[in-house]
Amino acid sequence: MAPENTERPARVTHKPIAVGPARTISEIISEIPPKYLSGVRDNPGLASCCRDVESSFIFSERSNADMAVPDLLTIECDKCGKKQYRTFANRGTVTSPQP
Ligand SMILES: [Zn+2]
Repeated sequence: MAPENTERPARVTHKPIAVGPARTISEIISEIPPKYLSGVRDNPGLASCCRDVESSFIFSERSNADMAVPDLLTIECDKCGKKQYRTFANRGTVTSPQP
């Protein structure tokens, strides 16, 4: 059902490396920590199309080839193509919130 997105954006020079397929957020919304979505949805600096996150795409990326694991969670607007990044910078550190 879901088409595989193998297109590469042409204009980005420092291009993160996508890990796994892009998914539509509404398909997997129960698997996404709500804070990732609310950070985009509630950002008044973003266009309304970008804040409409449920139709946007989401995928993990490595910010560079040296990263062994994905360190970015990317939300890409399905209408204008702008990307919002969340980092996993605190993953595995003492400052990570406990579930
Ligand atoms: Zn947008």
